[in-house]
Amino acid sequence: MASYVFDPPAQVSAPIEGEDARFPVRRILCVGRNYAAHRREMGGDDRDPPFFFAKPADALVAPGADVAYPQATANLHHEIELIVAIGKGGADVAVDQALDMIFGYAVGVDLTRRDLQAAAREKMQPWEAAKGFDQSAPMSPVRRWAGSPPQGRIAISVNGQVKQEAVVADMIWNVPEIVSEASKLWRLAPGDLIFTGTPEGVGPLVRGDAVTGEVEGVGKLAFRVV
Ligand code: MN
Repeated sequence: MASYVFDPPAQVSAPIEGEDARFPVRRILCVGRNYAAHRREMGGDDRDPPFFFAKPADALVAPGADVAYPQATANLHHEIELIVAIGKGGADVAVDQALDMIFGYAVGVDLTRRDLQAAAREKMQPWEAAKGFDQSAPMSPVRRWAGSPPQGRIAISVNGQVKQEAVVADMIWNVPEIVSEASKLWRLAPGDLIFTGTPEGVGPLVRGDAVTGEVEGVGKLAFRVV
């Protein structure tokens, strides 16, 4: 066995609905601007295709756990998203093979320090500080899923008020296209999670907010900002 100069970090994992074994998480990819109305609200050009960015795996927040209001921002935003959980790896995967790589789905929130994102965009700088901060990825348990991907309602409420509401079917890149596009840029591996983008209606969260989100058929998520 290897020895280390200090204890290595614990394996990040997510619970699986109805099972004792957990889903070990390798990395988190995210799709930007994958719903037309959200692309417009962010000032995007209607012809710009979606794109990828990443969060570190240890940004995940376990289902139900509180999220500490992050440092270095005065404008924390919610983005409700369907998460694809990859169960089989591969690179350059064709769209019609992509569904075979999927273990299941979960519901996630791509928490965003919107003020830092705006500053980064202005200076043509990368997005890590806006997107990849500690506790920036609350999620639900993973639900095993075979066959056609979820298409139904995706929504988030803050303190009981609906803030974002759409259908997953409105995505610009659908689930197999997202997996195929990601696999052209990275060799995907079991344990990868892909946040698939958010619909319109993103907005601020403050300390004390109770957040609930859902994707029809996939599950529900809840957390409090403290
Ligand atoms: Mn997002």
